[in-house]
Amino acid sequence: MQALPRGSTIGMLGGGQLARMAALAAAPLGYNVHVFTRAANDPCAQVTPQQTLAAWDDFDALRAFAASVDVITLEFENIPTATLDFLATLKPVHPGSHALAICQDRVREKDFVRATGADTTEYREITDLDSLTAARDELGAPAVLKTATMGYDGHGQARIDADTDLAKVFTRLGRARCIYERFVDFDHEVSLVLARDLDGHVATYPIVQNLHTDAHILHETLAPAPRIDAETSDVANAIGASLAHALDYVGVMAIEFFVTKAGALLVNEIAPRPHNSGHWTMDGAVCSQFEQQIRAVAGLPLGDTTLRCPVRMINLLGDEVDDLIASHSRDPAARLHDYGKKHKRPGRKMGHINILGATSSS
Ligand code: AMP
Repeated sequence: MQALPRGSTIGMLGGGQLARMAALAAAPLGYNVHVFTRAANDPCAQVTPQQTLAAWDDFDALRAFAASVDVITLEFENIPTATLDFLATLKPVHPGSHALAICQDRVREKDFVRATGADTTEYREITDLDSLTAARDELGAPAVLKTATMGYDGHGQARIDADTDLAKVFTRLGRARCIYERFVDFDHEVSLVLARDLDGHVATYPIVQNLHTDAHILHETLAPAPRIDAETSDVANAIGASLAHALDYVGVMAIEFFVTKAGALLVNEIAPRPHNSGHWTMDGAVCSQFEQQIRAVAGLPLGDTTLRCPVRMINLLGDEVDDLIASHSRDPAARLHDYGKKHKRPGRKMGHINILGATSSS
């Protein structure tokens, strides 16, 4: 494995907070970041002077971008695979379009997870009202109906009960291709963040517990997960490594799991990028998930994922941001990470706070 020399430039597709935190982690390693995004005030464009402001289908801009960088990575899973395939003819792209194509589609993703031997909830692909009706007849209710593509943070989802008007719900989701998932009456939700390097080495962070708002947006992460034993953690790590190898993945990825009341792990989703539930690593692990992403794609050895101290990560969502910053600003154990976003919208991720040493959510 040949590491990029210092002074090299990493191309970053997407300019949100994940890109911003990766760019801030690249600088101490001696790397520059060139961001490809839409607007000069996007969170990452605020911290990196090299930027291309263009659309995913602007192939002239993509060609010039590729010419100015040494390797390309990304912060957003819904980049068109045509964009990634085009860039891959010009420079190495990690993770590659094969991994993204699987993670962009909930049906393909769950088929893939099951093919590796890991478990998920029961599901069916929905293409029309007939297949939706058949899915409810077969799998029963309650269930969750999700658009197969472009969903995030609870968007493009609806709960289905025995008396739900299926035509109405399907229309609300745009009659798009969907996945019908049996509702999991889970005990709690956890995730695993890991990295895989160019030589296939895998490094896993400790499993964390995630708490969501009523709108299904991540609100808090507890690192390490308080109620996960060593055996369950080993199972999660083995699932994570097998998914990463099967995708021939390079970079940081996250796997979200439901922990059932019987203690079993069901994979809910794979995120092919650094993940909100890994933000605690910025202050609580020896090497953060953002430095890890840069290391993996630059060909450096992976960093140390050891937990330095327990962390409670709190997302600053929408209007909460000012009050939460004010209430934590005097706490020396609270580390603030502001994403530089001007406009507050309900549920919008404005920043996060890592509270060091905290082991519970209160
Ligand atoms: P997702 O967009 O798939 O990550 O879903 C967002 C959140 O909705 C999850 O973190 C869960 O809290 C909830 N959820 C999603 N799918 C299911 C399911 N099949 N059963 C129960 N809860 C679910």
